[in-house]
Amino acid sequence: MLCPVCKKEMVDVEHDRIELDYCVKCRGVWFDANELELLLDKYNLQDCDLTFSKLKNKTSEDIAEKKQKCPVCKKTMGKIKIGDSSQTIIDICVNGDGLWFDGGEVVQLIRHASKDIQQESNAEQQVINFLGEVFRI
Ligand SMILES: [Zn+2]
Ligand SMILES: [Zn+2]
Repeated sequence: MLCPVCKKEMVDVEHDRIELDYCVKCRGVWFDANELELLLDKYNLQDCDLTFSKLKNKTSEDIAEKKQKCPVCKKTMGKIKIGDSSQTIIDICVNGDGLWFDGGEVVQLIRHASKDIQQESNAEQQVINFLGEVFRI
């Protein structure tokens, strides 16, 4: 699969049965829709507002950031703001293929997810550790 930003071939990363595509150049991450659910399930975050089906309904037209094309279906992806201060913007395929995170955004997503359902920070830390192991961030 090609990185939607650099158009370079991404590498498959597998960790704990969750598979991601990772761009070594821009450090962006592609999640298939079902891989996101797997990750949230793994840490009991499946009741938060960050499931794929909920996110898909939140795309906003008035975000100026450059649009990216879905690496699977090549359609222009929608943009979603995450978090109260809205500093995190992710791309989502409205056809349901998956999500794109620019480098570093995935950690902000997880932070937001665990805050959202007011879990003890333990789950958050586990997810961040997981991603830290995968991406060495
Ligand atoms: Zn890239
Ligand atoms: Zn797509």
